[in-house]
Amino acid sequence: MANASIIAVGTELLFGQIVNTNAAYISEKLQLLGVNVLYHYTVGDNEGRMRSTLERALAESDIVITSGGLGPTQDDLTKEIIAETMGLPLAMDERALAEIASFFDRIGREMTDNNRKQAMLPVGATVFYNERGTAPGFAACEGGKTVIALPGPPSELAAMFENSVIPFMEDRSDAAIYHRTLRFYGIGESQLETDLAPLIEGQTDPTLATYAKEGECSLRIASKRRTRDEAAAAVGEMERTVKEIAGKYIYSDSNEELYEVVAKAMIEKRLTIAAAESCTGGLFASTLIGYTGISEVFDAGYVTYSNGAKTRELGVPKALIEQFGAVSEEVAKAMAEGARKAAGTDIGIAVTGVAGPDGGTEEKPSGFAWIALADAQGTITRAHLSRDKGREINRRITVLAMLALLRRYVAGQNG
Ligand code: ATP
Repeated sequence: MANASIIAVGTELLFGQIVNTNAAYISEKLQLLGVNVLYHYTVGDNEGRMRSTLERALAESDIVITSGGLGPTQDDLTKEIIAETMGLPLAMDERALAEIASFFDRIGREMTDNNRKQAMLPVGATVFYNERGTAPGFAACEGGKTVIALPGPPSELAAMFENSVIPFMEDRSDAAIYHRTLRFYGIGESQLETDLAPLIEGQTDPTLATYAKEGECSLRIASKRRTRDEAAAAVGEMERTVKEIAGKYIYSDSNEELYEVVAKAMIEKRLTIAAAESCTGGLFASTLIGYTGISEVFDAGYVTYSNGAKTRELGVPKALIEQFGAVSEEVAKAMAEGARKAAGTDIGIAVTGVAGPDGGTEEKPSGFAWIALADAQGTITRAHLSRDKGREINRRITVLAMLALLRRYVAGQNG
């Protein structure tokens, strides 16, 4: 297996002014390509230290990927140091120059001589033209080693990685990689790992890796074979085995978000919905509305934070709130029914809970919520506790619980 190291260039990174998200991004992508990442380096815009870091990384790894320092200014030295270290002269790349000129044309700014410098690239390198900015990236190969230089801005780097680096690396690999990511809700990562231990232990190919996400987890199944078809078949077979063991927790086998899966299913079944939210403050509605096309089924969201608003907007009886409290099964139920009635939708979903960090009691701790889902037949309710991790996380985890309830409900409906 090929191995790689990543060098993030930029004094801002060392000062802690920006977080090195590029290294995490590249590492994750390399793993999917079957490339083993050995080291992450971070170095400032300093010629001597950059040169020694590059020399060290090249001595240890087959591939070195740099991020940043390709800009037009004096302190952008990455390209020059790579060319010098690899013994490659720089020459003007006419297409890169034309693309930089057209970039400045589009944004209506004058191109400077410094920008021309960005089109000087190591002779013989494969050039990655930048769709989102000025600095082209490149891959230079010499003496069995490859250096890939990418621009610093994360959106430029990601677009270049997807569109140019992946095809470049796949072209040079004698093996094909196929992977799928299954998404789980309702089972923790450690439980999932325990349940799948017989498959994970002693794995060679396909490999299985579990990942904890906020309120959920995922499993990546990957295979590296001679052809993509062979790898896909091996992954498919492993996926079937995983589904036999933990299938009931899987909500997506193609790395979709829970809200996307729910939105798609609701649109397909033409189920209209309104939401009434207290502790989540509209986050449920906002999350679902993140799906393009949701307007076909999403009618209204009511953020009824105070008791008065619950009564005024949703018709929740004042006496009910006084008797059971705002965070109660009865009030959640009345909110869901009230939202459904007010909007005239097929479904009403509601949540009332304690977002935290204050206001929790032993009976109703911070992170606790009642969720209710009403339709023409009746109303179902669920108590949910997100293990209090602070207000923002509690809100997001509660929204996941609402989506999970909705997913199960929609799956049980005939179109
Ligand atoms: P430019 O053409 O914008 O000058 P560049 O390749 O010279 O590109 P840098 O100047 O090194 O890139 O970085 C530009 C910006 O990109 C930084 O100010 C920072 O916001 C972001 N950036 C750079 N490196 C990283 C990194 N490792 N992780 C996350 N963001 C980064």
